[in-house]
Amino acid sequence: MDRRDFIRTSALGTLGLSLAPSLFTGCSTPAPRTAGSDRLELLFKPYDLKLKHAFNLAKNSRTHTPDVQVQLRYGDYIGYGEASMPPYLGETQESVCRFLGQLDLSQFTDPFRLEEILDYIDSVAPDNRAAKASVDIALHDLLGKIMGQPWYRIWGLSPEKAPATSFTIGIDTEEVVRQKLKEAAPYRILKIKMGLDNDKELVRIIRSETDRPICVDANQGWSSKEYALEMIEWLKEQNCLFVEQPMPKEMIDEQAWLHERASLPLIADEFLQRLPDVRRAYGLYDGINIKLMKSTGMHEAYQMAILARALDMKVMVGCMTETSCAVSAAAQLSPLVDWADLDGNLLIANDLFDGMKIVDGKISLPNRPGIGVVPL
Ligand code: MG
Repeated sequence: MDRRDFIRTSALGTLGLSLAPSLFTGCSTPAPRTAGSDRLELLFKPYDLKLKHAFNLAKNSRTHTPDVQVQLRYGDYIGYGEASMPPYLGETQESVCRFLGQLDLSQFTDPFRLEEILDYIDSVAPDNRAAKASVDIALHDLLGKIMGQPWYRIWGLSPEKAPATSFTIGIDTEEVVRQKLKEAAPYRILKIKMGLDNDKELVRIIRSETDRPICVDANQGWSSKEYALEMIEWLKEQNCLFVEQPMPKEMIDEQAWLHERASLPLIADEFLQRLPDVRRAYGLYDGINIKLMKSTGMHEAYQMAILARALDMKVMVGCMTETSCAVSAAAQLSPLVDWADLDGNLLIANDLFDGMKIVDGKISLPNRPGIGVVPL
C-alpha cells in the first residue's frame, strides 16, 4: 500500500470534509519531522472487499463489503487498522471517513496514553463503532510494534490456548451447502446460519455428510419463544454446542423465558455492542459474542471478555468480512475465549495482509509484534 493513496486527517480538515471520490486518490505530503517532535499521524482510505461467494442472509444478498483501511504513524512505526461496514450496521465509507477526518491525533505526543487517546476518540461523536475500532486497532498495532511484542503476549495470554474456529455455512441451496461442506473440511466446528422456514432441512443435509459439532446463529430469526425453545431442544440432539441470538434483541421478556428453559448455551450477538451491554446481557444470555467492529476495538473487547469471565459467562469472539488486519487483531484475544468465529478474511478475494492462520481448524497466532500482520 502506497502512502500516497491515503488521506491524512489534516488534509480533510483543510478541504472542509469534502468526500468527493477524487479526494481518495489525492496525495498529501507529510509535514517534516524533527527529532523529538514525533506525533501521531492518521491516514485512511476506502477499500472494497470482494467476497469470494455472494453472501446470502435471510433478507438480502451481497458481493462486496465496504471497508476503510487505516494507518497510524509515529516516528518510523506504522500501525495498521481497519473498519469493515456490513450494511446492516449503519456505517458507510463516507461516515467512517468523515469521522476519521474530524480526529486530531497530532495533539498526542505519547502513543502509550491509550486511555486518554481512546477516550478522546470516543468523545468526538456517538456511535461510529467501526470507525473508532479502526483507530483502536491501528494504535494497538503501533504500541505492540514499539514494544516489540504481540498483543496476546502483552495481555499475558498463551497462544496455544487459542481455540478452534468455526466455518460458516450460510443459507443456500442443497447443492451449495454440500459444496461448502467440502470447503469446510479442515474445520472442527461448523457454524450454521438459520432463521428461515427450512432450518431443520439445512441441518439434515449437513448431518448426512458429517457428524462434526455445529453451532447455530439464528440472527434474531425466531420470533416465537415456544418455537425457539423447540428448535433449541431439537438442535441439542444434533450435536449443537450453542445458539447465537435466537430471538429479536428487543424481546427481553421472551429471552428471559427462553433462558430459563433452554438446555443449550444462548449467546448474545445483535443484543450487545459495547462494555456496558455485558451487564445487560447477564441473566438473559449465557454468553456474549464480541466483535471489534461493535466494541470499538481491542481495548474494550478485552475489557468485555474479562467482565464476562468474571460473571461466569461464555465468551465468543467473532468478526465481519474483514481483511487479515482486523481478523488478526481479534485473534489476539482468542486464547481468552471459549469459541472463535474468525473466518472473515477467508471469505474475501482481495486480502491486503498476511496474519493469523487456521492450522488444523485451530487459530495459529503469528509471533510478530502488534496485531501480527504484514502487508502483502
Ligand atoms: Mg451472529
